[in-house]
Amino acid sequence: MDRRTLKDLDEAEVRGRRIFVRVDLNVPLNEDGSVADPGRIQGTLATLEALSKQGGRLVLVSHLGRPDGAPDPAYSLAPVARELSDLAGVPVPLLEGAPEDPGLRQAVDALGDGEMALLENVRFHPGETRNDPEFTRALAELADHFVSDAFGTAHRAHASTVGVPTIVRERGGRAVAGLLMARELRFLDRELQDPRRPFVAVLGGAKISGKIELIESILHRVDRLLVGGAMANTFLLALGLQVGRSLVEEDRVEVARELLERWGERIVLPVDCVVAPEVKEGAEVEVRRRDEIGAEDRVADVGPETVALFASELQAARTVVWNGPMGVFEVPPFDRGTRDVARALAEATDDGTVSIVGGGDSAAAAVASGLADRITHISSGGGAALELLAGKVLPGVDVLESSLD
Ligand code: ADP
Ligand code: MG
Repeated sequence: MDRRTLKDLDEAEVRGRRIFVRVDLNVPLNEDGSVADPGRIQGTLATLEALSKQGGRLVLVSHLGRPDGAPDPAYSLAPVARELSDLAGVPVPLLEGAPEDPGLRQAVDALGDGEMALLENVRFHPGETRNDPEFTRALAELADHFVSDAFGTAHRAHASTVGVPTIVRERGGRAVAGLLMARELRFLDRELQDPRRPFVAVLGGAKISGKIELIESILHRVDRLLVGGAMANTFLLALGLQVGRSLVEEDRVEVARELLERWGERIVLPVDCVVAPEVKEGAEVEVRRRDEIGAEDRVADVGPETVALFASELQAARTVVWNGPMGVFEVPPFDRGTRDVARALAEATDDGTVSIVGGGDSAAAAVASGLADRITHISSGGGAALELLAGKVLPGVDVLESSLD
C-alpha cells in the first residue's frame, strides 16, 4: 500500500507550522565522540531541506544507541547536531530536557519559518521505547504535523515512531513519509510486489535462525535464491555433506532440508568454498570443492567457481535483492567472495538490473567495496529492511497516511 509523502503536503500546510520529523541519526561514533560515518545524516538531508524550504519549523527527533532510558553523555546527539549543521549549512541547536520542560517548549516556539532544532536523544526518556501514553502526549505537544524518515527504526512501536503520529492524526494533523522513507518503501516493498523477472535473491551472513521468515517469504517470490555465507553451511549439511569446524546451525539442518525439498529448484548453493584452519587476517587459505571439506577446515568464504556461478545468475537477473555477506568479509582475505559478488551486482546494475541491498552488514560490505553508487538502492535500515522483505507490516510505516485514506 502506498504511503503519502511530504510531496502530498501543501506549502500552506507546512509554512509556520511545527513539523515533527522522526529521523534516524543513530550513526556510529569514533572514540573521541565525533561522527564516524555521516551516511544516515546525509540520507535525510533532502527531506529536511524540502521541509525547510517550504517554511516548516522543524523539530528533529532521533535516538542514538541504547542509553537505557536515562541521560548518558556517551549517547548524546551533540556531535550529530554539529555534523548535521555542517552538512546542512544552517544552525542546528540541540535542545535538552524533557518535552514538557517550559524551556524546551519555548525553544521550539522560538523557531522561525524554515529553521530546525534537534531534540537530545529521545531514548534518554524511559517512555520512548515503552510508547508510554503520558510521554507520548508531551512529545506530541511539540508537533503540528509528523514526517517520518526513520526507516531504520520503523519496525519499533515507540513513542516517537508510532505514538506521536497517532495523536497528530487524531488531531487532524498530517503524518507522512519523508523522501528517504518513501525511497526505502519503493525499493524494499513496492518494486518487489511485481518485480521484473528473473528476480534473484542473494542471502548470506551468519545464520539461518532469525532469517527463516525472510527465507520463506523470499522463496515464494523469487526465481532463484543464491545462498552463501555461513548460512550455506547448514544447507550443505542438509545435503549430507561435511563442513568440518565451520560455523553451522545443527538445529536448523532439518529446516534447511525441508526448504531444499520444497524449493530445491530455486535454491543455488555454493559449489566450492574458501577454507582455513583459523579465520584470522592473512590466514593461509585453500579452495575446496564442497564435497571435499576436511574435518579441520573452517569455511569462511565462497570459492571462485561459486562466484562465477552466482555472477552468471546475477547477469541474467532483472531484479536482485541481497542480504548477508558471502563470507567473513571483515577479515581479509575472506572478503573476496563478497567483493566479487558485489562487483557482479554492480555490473548487472550497469546493464539495467534493479539492485537492492538490505541489512546492516550487507550495506557496510557494499559500501566497503566502493561500488555503492553503482547499486540501485542500499537500504539505511538493517532489521527494518529484513522485516519488510519478510513481508511484515512495520508499525512506523503502518501509522502513516496511505493513498487510500
Ligand atoms: P546482515 O547484517 O547484512 O543482515 P548478518 O548479520 O546476518 O548480515 O551476517 C553478517 C555476518 O556473517 C558477518 O559478521 C560475517 O562475518 C558473518 N559470516 C558470513 N559468512 C560466514 C562464514 N562462512 N563463517 C562465519 N561467519 C560468517
Ligand atoms: Mg548483521
